[in-house]
Parts: sequence; structure tokens; C-alpha cells
Amino acid sequence: MKEILPPPPPIHRNEFETVRGLFNRFVVPTYGRFELVFSHGAGSYVWDVTGKRYLDLGGGIAVCALGHANPEITETLIQQSQKLVHVSNLYYHEPQGRMAEQLVKHLAPGKVFFCNSGAEANEGLYKLARKFGHDEGRYEILTAENSFHGRTLAGIAATGQDKVKQGFEPMVQGFRHVPFNDLEAVRAAISPATVAVLIEGVQGEGGITPAAPDYLLGLRRLCDEKKLLLLMDGVQCGHFRTGRFQSFQRILESLPHSFLPDGISMAKSLGGGFPMGAFWVQSRHADLLGPGTHGTTFGGTPLGCAVASKVMEVIERDNLAQNARQVGEALLNEMQRVVNANPGVLKGVRGLGLMLGIELKEKESIPAFASGDKSAAIQFVNRLHDAGVMTIPSGSQKVRLLPPLNLTAEQAAEGVALIEKVVQSLA
Ligand SMILES: *Cc1c(COP(=O)(O)O)cnc(C)c1O
Repeated sequence: MKEILPPPPPIHRNEFETVRGLFNRFVVPTYGRFELVFSHGAGSYVWDVTGKRYLDLGGGIAVCALGHANPEITETLIQQSQKLVHVSNLYYHEPQGRMAEQLVKHLAPGKVFFCNSGAEANEGLYKLARKFGHDEGRYEILTAENSFHGRTLAGIAATGQDKVKQGFEPMVQGFRHVPFNDLEAVRAAISPATVAVLIEGVQGEGGITPAAPDYLLGLRRLCDEKKLLLLMDGVQCGHFRTGRFQSFQRILESLPHSFLPDGISMAKSLGGGFPMGAFWVQSRHADLLGPGTHGTTFGGTPLGCAVASKVMEVIERDNLAQNARQVGEALLNEMQRVVNANPGVLKGVRGLGLMLGIELKEKESIPAFASGDKSAAIQFVNRLHDAGVMTIPSGSQKVRLLPPLNLTAEQAAEGVALIEKVVQSLA
């Protein structure tokens, strides 16, 4: 049969205005959005409705692990959706069991609970901790300053940043913040009510700050000594982004150690764009949350798990952890060169694998930004958009690179060249 070509898409000259108008009228304005309307993507590129192409170094905030419109994800979505999209968690199905097995295989003996987001994965960890300490009346969780753990009520209580809490008081009880990478601060903060410590292996929203190896090892010893759970939020820094499955595996890889947290939350890259979260809990606490103690309607559906399994399979087959490590290192080195050559604009660059943070100078000291009302980070991101590259702002002076794990060396070089041009135009 002769193939019938689809008709060309209609030209919507004012598609931008139309979509913008819909958001203005109908979408709750919780986001300060950039003035871009996207229509489609392929791999590490995305197109807006005017037809302009962007290199996506933001990856939807570390979500699009295999880039956009990945054909293997599409194929899995089609095939699984023809079999079974959803069954209740009242029943068993193979994709959830298989996906849990794959996650456990990359960590250590334990079990997995599936949910739909990072905040929800952390909620599971809070409940795990509360259950763990309940009979002794312990419930308090220590978290780090500058941390980010999600936007639910407990999530903002756990997050060590005032800006997410403002206007939503009173906070959920039982969270206190201590300086990050400061073991003695944790020791000093432990009270008779303390039951757990929760940290990110690499602080993401806080501006790409990795935990120090000694801090991790010290925390493990301290938590054992005080009978506390050591919980890690791997929502952003996990899923092979740093070059290993979890960031602590990367941070500790050159040291002899037997470090293992008690629980780990995951989301973002887990479903490669399909909304999915999970937490892993190590064996000795794996049955703490028994029947009836926790649940979710959508967590771990056959469709979500089939896609997440495929993402995992492709990452392993194509050695994307190694790719993240190598391409990330090249990006870091190249960006360091750009930083060194432009000390009037950039302060520094740091990170692990494909999780990098570029720090700008103070807004006042960059003439092109000084008089703008937006932060240096936002103004920089806007200029990068004009140049055709997407990044993620972090605080007022940093932008993050969280690209797909299959970003090629050529695409990374293209990104650096685009960023360098913008930086030079500001110098
Ligand atoms: C994004 C993020 C979360 C929240 O995830 P959601 O899916 O938005 O709920 C939690 N912790 C960290 C470290 C994150 O980066």
C-alpha cells in the first residue's frame, strides 16, 4: 500500500500568544515561567513553537535521562499500554516486581516502594522514620541547610530553605536543619526525639554541593551509634547522573568502605520523563511499613514500571553512567577554561558527572545585568535561551546543567561554545 504522508502542520503565527493566554487565564501561577512555548523534541534538542531549536542542557531538571522522544521509550509505552496500563496495588503484576529487582540490584539487599514524585518518595522516608522511632517516642528528622526535599507540607518542613516555607506556617513538626557537610553540627543537634538524618548526596537546588566523603562515612558511624536512620534524597543526584547509580557510590568510590544508607528516595530521571518516584529501604528495615501503613493509587503502575525498566536497561546497555562521567568531566574542564578566561562574569564551576553548577559573579558587578530587575541567574538563562541553549537557574547566582545522560561529546562541546559566546558578550 502506498504510504500516505500526514498533512503539514498548520502554521499558527500566534501560537505563542494563544498558549500564553491559556496559562494566564487558567493555570495557577505558581511558577515564574520563561517566555518560551515548546512543541516537540528529539534527543538533546527541543523546538519552540516559532521553530527555534534549543540544545537542552537542563533535561527538564534532571528528568529526561534519555532525552526527548526516545524511540525505545515510545515503543515501550505503546507495547505496554496495549497490554495493561494500570491495576490497583491491591494486586500483583510483573513490571513492578521486575523494576524493584533492578533497583535493588544496583544497591544492596532491600525492598522498594513506588510512588509518583520526589516529594512523595521523601514522604515515604519520613513515614519510615516515624514508624522506626514510634515506640520510643522518637520522630525528629535532621536535614541540611540549603537542602531541597519537595513541595508537600512535610517536604517544605524538611527543606532547609526559608523561601519555600514562607506563607505556609505552621510547619509540620519534627524537622530541624543543620549546616551541610558539618558532622559535628549533626552530633550537637541530636536530641532524645531524633530518629533520622536526611541529606542529599549532592545538593541540587542548593547549588550543586557534593557531600564530602568523610561526612558520609562519619554520618553512618554517628547514626549507628545513636540508633538513627541515615536517609538519602537521591531524587536529583541519583540514577547514574554522577557516573554511578547513586551519588554516594561515586563520592566514596576511591575509598575502602561499606557505606550504605538505610533508605534512599528516587524520582526525576527514574522514569525518563514518565512521572515516577520510589524509595528503597535496606533489608533490616524493609518490612517496617507493613500492610495498611502506606499506599498510593498510581504508584508503580505496569506502564510506569515498564518504561522505567526500559530506561534502566538502555542506561546499562549503552554504558550511560560512563558517558555521564566522561562527558561530564569534559564539560567541567571546558567550563573551567571559560571561567578562567572570564573572571569578570563567572566565579566558578563545580559538580560531578552530568550535574554541574556554574556560578556567576554578583549581579552588580556584571554591567549588562546590574540594572535589570531579575537575578543574575535568570538574566543569564534568558541570554542562553536567545543563544539556543537551555539550563536551569539555581538561586540568584547559579545555573545548573542537568542534561540527558546520553548527551554526546559533540553536543557538550556545542553547549560550551554557546555558553562561552554569551559569557564573552557580558565581559
Ligand atoms: C526535585 C526534587 C525533589 C522533589 O521532587 P518532585 O518530583 O518535584 O516532588 C525532592 N528532592 C530533591 C533533591 C529534588 O531535586
